[in-house]
Amino acid sequence: MSLSTRSLVVLLSALALACVEDEQPLPPVQVSGEFVSYAASPEVEVCPGTVPHLEGWMTAVADQLGISTESLLQTTYYLVDDEVVAERCGGEGIGACAQRVGDNIEIYAGSPLSHHELVHAVQRSAWPLGKPVLSEGIATLFDDGFPHRVGAPSALMQLDDLIAISDPQPETGLYTVGWFLAYWVAVRHGEQALEDLWLAVDPSATAAEFRAGFEQTLGGSLDELVEDVDGQNHCQFVTCVGEPSAWVDGSWTVASPQGCEADVVGIRTPDHEDLRRYGLVAVEEAGFYEVTVTAAGVSVSLALCGRECGLDYTAGFSGTTTSWLAVGVYRAEAYGIAGQAPYEIQIRPEP
Ligand SMILES: [Zn+2]
Repeated sequence: MSLSTRSLVVLLSALALACVEDEQPLPPVQVSGEFVSYAASPEVEVCPGTVPHLEGWMTAVADQLGISTESLLQTTYYLVDDEVVAERCGGEGIGACAQRVGDNIEIYAGSPLSHHELVHAVQRSAWPLGKPVLSEGIATLFDDGFPHRVGAPSALMQLDDLIAISDPQPETGLYTVGWFLAYWVAVRHGEQALEDLWLAVDPSATAAEFRAGFEQTLGGSLDELVEDVDGQNHCQFVTCVGEPSAWVDGSWTVASPQGCEADVVGIRTPDHEDLRRYGLVAVEEAGFYEVTVTAAGVSVSLALCGRECGLDYTAGFSGTTTSWLAVGVYRAEAYGIAGQAPYEIQIRPEP
């Protein structure tokens, strides 16, 4: 016995209807830029700097990956609660995801500025589905929300099991080992090699096929790479957008957000704020600098832009800290905290 075509159609329509009815509605788009739209529930205020920041940052990451701005697809960032994320991303325990739907990218996230998912949006705009160890690795490499250095991950012991995984899943090793591989491939062979490797390896490739594709593309074996970099640290790439602001009378300053001001990135609701102001500072002479935060108990972030694993310590400055700063451009992040008095991050050469 088999189902007639007609009853199959009726059954499938009923199922489809059930799915649509069960899915929670998505929040409306609140702000649209050139290629990024931000959707959030009406009580969320999206600050004016948010969409320009997302677009500028994605464009700069795409550029590093050899992807042109023109290839970036229309991307909608849905700020939604965990239940909607689980429903849309296909499982509990997934904090966010980015999906390509036709010629659009949809990001579902519980946090307002997931740089990790923006990297996936860039990848999915221009590249076919990739091997999870590479897609998660590259997304982790460019996720510069909390840049820091780390040594080789312990999950390298399961290298072959991890590179064989063909569906993205919340498996920590996929992220730590992927990050390690993406970092060293990019640093030793250039960012272009990431795309070459991505295209050379099918998502369903076995570990042996991945290793063969790696060797063919990069000219050395995966084991050689792991041995060569033994004992060395890696870090995230920090993508900075815009121009450094000026030093005034020998010191450089950025003020904390005091609300949804024009250049402030983030969101606020009647009972929650997630606001930040980014400032870029050019250090033209290496030396010891005093980094002062003019408020007690406030965490800020200072990170060297680019691929160098610049600072050991990128967050948690409070009071005055003396740091050695190499020549380069640094990104300072001042956070707005509900109930916190305004403060400044100040940098000046040690007297
Ligand atoms: Zn991811």
